[in-house]
Amino acid sequence: MLAPIIIAIDGYSSCGKSTLAIQLAERLSYKYVDTGAMYRALTLYLLKNQIDIHHPDMVAEALSNIQISFGLNEITQKQYTILNGENVEDEIRINPRVASAVSVVSAQSEVRKFLVNQQQAFGATKGIVMDGRDIGTVVFPNAELKLFITAEPMIRAQRRLDELQEKGQHTTLEEVLANLQKRDLMDTTRADSPLLKAADAIEIDNSYLSRQDQLNKVLQLVKNLNQNAQ
Ligand code: C5P
Repeated sequence: MLAPIIIAIDGYSSCGKSTLAIQLAERLSYKYVDTGAMYRALTLYLLKNQIDIHHPDMVAEALSNIQISFGLNEITQKQYTILNGENVEDEIRINPRVASAVSVVSAQSEVRKFLVNQQQAFGATKGIVMDGRDIGTVVFPNAELKLFITAEPMIRAQRRLDELQEKGQHTTLEEVLANLQKRDLMDTTRADSPLLKAADAIEIDNSYLSRQDQLNKVLQLVKNLNQNAQ
């Protein structure tokens, strides 16, 4: 049995990182942390409290009032995001204002420092799967397994549209695609912790892979680590 490891999953918006991370955490009995949810919840706080997201000083000042954690729904066994004691899981996913503001907020260094500290604390005891944009490069540069997930933009937009429609949101493929591309551009070009593939990350393009095939592929990588460690 392999000692608990850290699995870092990075990649573009809506390429199935969270789906894979949840499956892996379940199979390996690991913790799962969705760092995108943390940036989204923080953004929701700023919007709700009318803090100007274009003023990093004002944003930095608000950080001490923000507490983000995760809860587990005992019935569905799904994790949800808690902002200052309130379950904000649905709101951070479907509120279009969050989707368009989050990349402006996440580019700010004080915000990143604030959340990265918490993310590193979550991983102190290992046995964790964490997904985001800078996990293998900044949060856990020494993670034992780093994955970089990609998929064709149109496929990612369609998946995201299906997800939003399932939640009763009415939007179009064009709108969803535009938001993904805008976020990808901002996330890859920002000065602090841009999205990039770590040199030692394994790239998986899942455009034409089923969820199960993708999971099997990664479980095999974990097994290989296990064998090499023996
Ligand atoms: O993963 P998700 O699409 O929910 O992330 C929302 C946004 O949060 C991203 O577009 C990015 O701006 C930001 N983010 C980040 N670093 C992370 C995770 C998310 O900057 N580790």
